[in-house]
Amino acid sequence: MGVSLDGPPTANDRHRLTHASRSSAASAVRGIELLRSRPHLFAGLLAVVHLANDPVEVHDYLASFEPPVIDFGLPHGTHDEPPHRDDPSVPEYGLWMTRVYDAWLARPEQRHSVRMLEDIVALNSGVHSSVESLGLAPPTSIVIESDGTIEGVDTLRSVEEGASWLGRDVFSQSFNEVLHHPKLLHRQNGKAALADQCQSCPLVEVCGGGYLPHRFSTDRGYRNPSVYCADLEYLIRHVQDSLRQHGWAPQALTPP
Ligand code: SF4
Repeated sequence: MGVSLDGPPTANDRHRLTHASRSSAASAVRGIELLRSRPHLFAGLLAVVHLANDPVEVHDYLASFEPPVIDFGLPHGTHDEPPHRDDPSVPEYGLWMTRVYDAWLARPEQRHSVRMLEDIVALNSGVHSSVESLGLAPPTSIVIESDGTIEGVDTLRSVEEGASWLGRDVFSQSFNEVLHHPKLLHRQNGKAALADQCQSCPLVEVCGGGYLPHRFSTDRGYRNPSVYCADLEYLIRHVQDSLRQHGWAPQALTPP
């Protein structure tokens, strides 16, 4: 079981208010403390990046709960509705995550994983990513709604109405049949399904073109680089530089 918490109460309150417009931070923290008393159930914490929050403060606050994993998610956005930026000429989300990376690396006594960062390190070492938002491996997860409906990745709802809808359910189709749905099949094509710019990008083995919803535009569907292209490039290169400084030659950079 994971818990969404975007950071300390002031950070979390930017988007996670209750329907009565009250802070949900205290009740989320109560839930986390309860989970900490049942560590086998505590999968980790999920925070959505907000540029107005201080990345180190957010990281350190989440780490204080000693979760096994901290997952950072980039806000949903498409080329039709790009994410907010204070200065579009700066890879602000990439910079934000590099500050998390540096904080995470500076505290080796903490045992948690930061999933996005650990995946970038793993992909640079030739290991598959554990999430579908990075790398070129076909996604291995599916969403089952509480009424038995099977959907593609549920975050596609941020793209357009019906984008995640497959018209399948657990009562009449097997998972193997669903795997051959046209909306999922193209995701088995790896690099060939990506935009030309991504196919020729030196970072494609690690980046994978970014998270599927973040590639969308009405004109070209999913054949675009991610709206976070510059951020992903900045972050991946920062991690690669750090690996080199630690004497580790990233495999993704090594010529075949
Ligand atoms: S989204 Fe950008 S960094 Fe990622 S593979 Fe495509 S071109 Fe490269």
